[in-house]
Amino acid sequence: MNKPGRNDPCYCGSGQKYKKCHMPLDQQKEKERRDWTAAAEFLRRDLLKFARDERFATAFAQALPLYWNELYTIENAEEMSQDEALRFFDWFMFDYTLEDGTRPLDAYQTDRREDLATTQQAVLDKWAAEVSAAWAYTLTDYDAEQLVVNDFMTGETFAIQEPGGRGLVEIGEVILARLVPVYDHLEFSTTAAYLPAKEITDLAAKLAEARQTDAQTHPEAIQSDFMRRHNHLLIHHALEQAKIQGRPPVACLDPNRPDKAMQKVVHTMKKRFK
Ligand SMILES: [Zn+2]
Repeated sequence: MNKPGRNDPCYCGSGQKYKKCHMPLDQQKEKERRDWTAAAEFLRRDLLKFARDERFATAFAQALPLYWNELYTIENAEEMSQDEALRFFDWFMFDYTLEDGTRPLDAYQTDRREDLATTQQAVLDKWAAEVSAAWAYTLTDYDAEQLVVNDFMTGETFAIQEPGGRGLVEIGEVILARLVPVYDHLEFSTTAAYLPAKEITDLAAKLAEARQTDAQTHPEAIQSDFMRRHNHLLIHHALEQAKIQGRPPVACLDPNRPDKAMQKVVHTMKKRFK
């Protein structure tokens, strides 16, 4: 929608000048949107920093091979590409369950919340309480800056704000990502991965089987608990498909793609673990 000029009639049809009608409210909303976007950006960076905390060294070493199905372990962690490392740390902070039953995100909330600005606190609280596990979503439509997706298992529909557009993903293909609320819309929490059409294969059957097995040990589990405990299966499936399709795992494609910031995180964790 094009904004009217200050002295133009307001778009709501009240007959008032814009500046006397909806302009103050629009400006307020615009400011809130900017604040939320900035707070979300800050949190993404700060959560990544927090993941380096010494207390997570052992958990980090245990989580790596679980997430990557042994492709990466503490021994070769620095071979993760930047995108892989970002996805791993995103999963580690939001979805990995520590020995005491909490997530690293919960520890961040306990330790750091009071040092944050008000909007940062609001975003953090929303993310800690509402954000669901990283998951698989089928792309069903795209519309300018929005991707319309369906939950791969439940079919629930979401619209995701993604200024970068759909990238390589075609309708019907599967996006592996976490959706986080930012102000009035959903975004990806970090770099998304995707499954090309021919690599989706038996993913639905695998997840259905995992859900059944899970129900035996966790009869009370709701779908979101199941997702959190099993979403590494999505990455395992993607890795298995890469093998079947005869392409090397992404990490091997370009051994010379240094990412200093990410390597620093990994080196720190390795040192702490030893
Ligand atoms: Zn108005």
